[in-house]
Amino acid sequence: MSKMDIKSMHDGELSAIFKEWGMPAFRTKQIRNWLDNGATSFDQMNNLPATLRQQLSEHFRIPSVKILRRLVSQIDDTTKYLFELEDGQTVESVLMKYKHGWSQCLSTQVGCRMGCSFCATGIDGLARDLLPSEMIAQIEAAEADRGIRVSSVVLMGMGEPLDNYENVLRFLEMLETEGGVHIGMRHVSLSTCGLVDRIYDLMEKDLQITLSISLHAPNDELRRRLMPVARKWSVDELLAACKAYTDRTGRRISYEYAMIDGVNDTDACALELVKRLRGTLCHINLIPANAVEGKTQRRSSKARLQRFTEILTNGGLNATVRRTLGSDINASCGQLRRSQEQGIEQQFAD
Ligand code: SAH
Ligand code: SF4
Repeated sequence: MSKMDIKSMHDGELSAIFKEWGMPAFRTKQIRNWLDNGATSFDQMNNLPATLRQQLSEHFRIPSVKILRRLVSQIDDTTKYLFELEDGQTVESVLMKYKHGWSQCLSTQVGCRMGCSFCATGIDGLARDLLPSEMIAQIEAAEADRGIRVSSVVLMGMGEPLDNYENVLRFLEMLETEGGVHIGMRHVSLSTCGLVDRIYDLMEKDLQITLSISLHAPNDELRRRLMPVARKWSVDELLAACKAYTDRTGRRISYEYAMIDGVNDTDACALELVKRLRGTLCHINLIPANAVEGKTQRRSSKARLQRFTEILTNGGLNATVRRTLGSDINASCGQLRRSQEQGIEQQFAD
């Protein structure tokens, strides 16, 4: 029998099991306290009877992550982690310092099966989904490592969050609970390549999170070349889902647009974007594309970025170029894991 992941369970589920074991109700609270405070084994729970600790360790496990590598930017304190999971798989996460506090970019899957042409994470496909506890553990590990509190979270690391929908939703619920990492939904952004059916599902949950859509192209023809998911859903269908989402939640959509030199950064693309998005409640984040080993893409020039932004702004859209943090440690996700697997050396700082 495989052991249950105790950190991914709700108190109600735990209490039901403990009731069957004939345990008093207050044990759930005691155990949850230990888990919230980062306990990594049942042996540490020294206010529980030894027999109970034994019984717990026979039925449950406490997933944790180990810091395999850490890169600290000399420029701005951005810290990039390569975490090792219990089965030896690895995922990346990036911690960024803003005026308002620390923000952490989390992975939701090991790899990704969406296969976007510009992305390092998708190259080897999907290895597996992350458990809710493994998403929480990335935050706990970073907080313990740096002695800080993470105040906001973006699901923009490795993986497609809406392709791991149930686990991500459970993670979001756990994020909010008092006593745990305790981060409110208004401080969470979820980025998706555009799984339209799941966007409608998420909308029904009426969460106060920010939805980020990786758009990267203003029309089907170009988007299909860059993102296989665009063959399943058209830009029209995607934007209709986004409209429904803003109508329901009142939250504006954030569109991500990676600027790839000579591919999606022309004036014509900008004008088409204006036509598509004008009048909708949104913000456009232009990201200078990162070079990925083995791919020929290059980021757009500064002048191109400026001109593109200008066209969007003149067209009445709210657009900004994303500040690049940790440029000396290549802080975008997917590459550190690949270099580790392929034995490519990177420079590290402590
Ligand atoms: N799977 C989700 C979230 C993870 S990717 C998604 O695609 O939205 C996080 C963001 O990084 C996405 O906007 C993605 O399109 C972008 N991205 C991936 N590879 C990139 C690259 N080489 N340069 C710039 N942005 C990239
Ligand atoms: Fe997956 Fe996002 Fe990368 Fe596309 S951009 S392959 S959806 S992680």
